Amino acid sequence: MDIWQVQSKVTDSWMWRQLLKVRDMVLNRFGGRNNLQSAIENCHINGKLRISAIYNALTLPATYAAWSDTIWGGLHYPKHSVILWLNTLSRLLTKDRLCKMGILNENQCILCSAQQETSKHMFFECQFSAHIWNEIMEWSDYSWRSCNWDQIISWYSTNLKGKGYMKKIKRMTLSATVYWIWKERNLRIFQGRMHTSDQLVREIKTSILSKVLKRENAYIRPVSEGDKNFNFI
Ligand SMILES: [Zn+2]
Repeated sequence: MDIWQVQSKVTDSWMWRQLLKVRDMVLNRFGGRNNLQSAIENCHINGKLRISAIYNALTLPATYAAWSDTIWGGLHYPKHSVILWLNTLSRLLTKDRLCKMGILNENQCILCSAQQETSKHMFFECQFSAHIWNEIMEWSDYSWRSCNWDQIISWYSTNLKGKGYMKKIKRMTLSATVYWIWKERNLRIFQGRMHTSDQLVREIKTSILSKVLKRENAYIRPVSEGDKNFNFI
């Protein structure tokens, strides 16, 4: 009997049917068996399976709520939000995941050819994407700097919540950067073409500015003090 596939029958005990229901809910939340098994593997600390780590992994919706504004609330392009959302849930099909699924047998990062491709490496520990993200942080006039994904998403979720206009623009910087880096990775793998990191920085700035200009054309809005800190040039 395969515990991942067995279906409940009306003749099964109540307890067994409840266990299978929970299994299906968890599988659904993690987007399949491979993701769930990989999440459970991450719950091992010093070779031991930690119940507290499993609890944290299973309470994903509480964490997700904190990301909500970062991912969906703002001036985001929908396609940028979707890629950011998938990455936040660790569901982008990066090479490390494809290797675990047995689909690929090499996981070299196509952006730097020096490290293994994982989502945390690609956003933004990779030297290629770190250069882009540092440029975008500089452009956004951030007083902090980090290329660590967990720190970035936590900072965004904590400090860029709310409806302020500049916060919405700054939220765009993350979704646009993630989108363009993921697009560049796919362009290199599937089409054999490439851009430089500086070209991508320009694409990211252009996509943000064009959204801002479209909005500015929709209505005239007085410039606030906060806006003056954001250098669009
Ligand atoms: Zn890399």
